[in-house]
Amino acid sequence: MEDATECALKTGSSFSIIHPQTQILEGYFGQINEPIKATISAGRIAIAGRQLKSKEVIIVPDAPYIFNLNGNDYRGKLKLTVNSSGDSFDAVNLVPLEPYLAGVVGAEMPDYWEPAALQAQAIAARTYCLYYKRQFGRNRNWDVQKTQANQVYLGVIAESAQIWEAVNRTCGRVLVCKHTDGSEDIFPAYYSSTCGGHTENSKNVFGDSFEALAGVPCPYCQDVARPNSFFWPMVQFDKSYVTTKLLQKYPKLKRLGKITNITVAKQSEYEEFSRLTKVKLKGSTGKSDFLKAEDFRLTIDPTGRKLKSTICQIINMGDKWAFSLGRGWGHGVGMCQCGAQGMARQGKNAKQILLYYYPGSKIVSVH
Ligand SMILES: [Zn+2]
Repeated sequence: MEDATECALKTGSSFSIIHPQTQILEGYFGQINEPIKATISAGRIAIAGRQLKSKEVIIVPDAPYIFNLNGNDYRGKLKLTVNSSGDSFDAVNLVPLEPYLAGVVGAEMPDYWEPAALQAQAIAARTYCLYYKRQFGRNRNWDVQKTQANQVYLGVIAESAQIWEAVNRTCGRVLVCKHTDGSEDIFPAYYSSTCGGHTENSKNVFGDSFEALAGVPCPYCQDVARPNSFFWPMVQFDKSYVTTKLLQKYPKLKRLGKITNITVAKQSEYEEFSRLTKVKLKGSTGKSDFLKAEDFRLTIDPTGRKLKSTICQIINMGDKWAFSLGRGWGHGVGMCQCGAQGMARQGKNAKQILLYYYPGSKIVSVH
């Protein structure tokens, strides 16, 4: 949680509140059956009305090492940090990699899917997490977000015997590929729900070029995906709404005025599976600018549930923008999750699935 002013805490066990550096005990609570509140005032966090000395504390539950934050159970510890403004705090779940992955795999895939697909998902998610932690986690208080911005993490509720089986069977396994300096190393193993028939090259979406993130044909997801995710129906957005959303997110576009025209500036090379990769925006002031198509999509539809992908056509319909002939759900880079399930149904194992969607990669163990 970012910039919170209040949260509800509960534990099925007793818990300690400690200072992260000195490990000094700031408080101790017995089991709480009713949620208690963590609040902030005058730059200090208070738990159940008791003000804490430190600006950063770690809540450490005793066995079974589970705490409940705002109604959801999570494993590990909870770090609360007062922000520099002093009027809000961040809440970060400190959790070892493998239990974290159980909360991801079960959130990213249904647990009744084939074991090979779940195992492929666990290895991709482990690789992705370690890459993000190393690249970006050093200079901040946390490693990955719990949403689609990184990978969805729901905590204990996402776990089941099948999910734990997939995590345990792949314990410590990650993907590596050749980097430009010749070394073999982990890479951002992106994945998305339904590619729509062909996965996308990462350089067209995220701008990074790893050989394992090239686009590959995917004849596997059509039979697995919901029909309205593989081919999605035309969606429309009011032009005024589109202008508002774009200008809010990208202040540099304010010089364009109202967005009066949206055209395709660039698309990928995969014919009927070609994604829009860059759009040109023209405004009422006569000025124009460009946006990556995936950024454009997630700005006007942050959930991505309506405008499901950038394999589509843009149509100017009077006071609305329409998007038609849509295929697939998600950015399309890396493993196609429905495709992984399709391959698993055909008897492919996790390694075969991963080496198909991340061409040229290898599975290695980090332990
Ligand atoms: Zn696919």
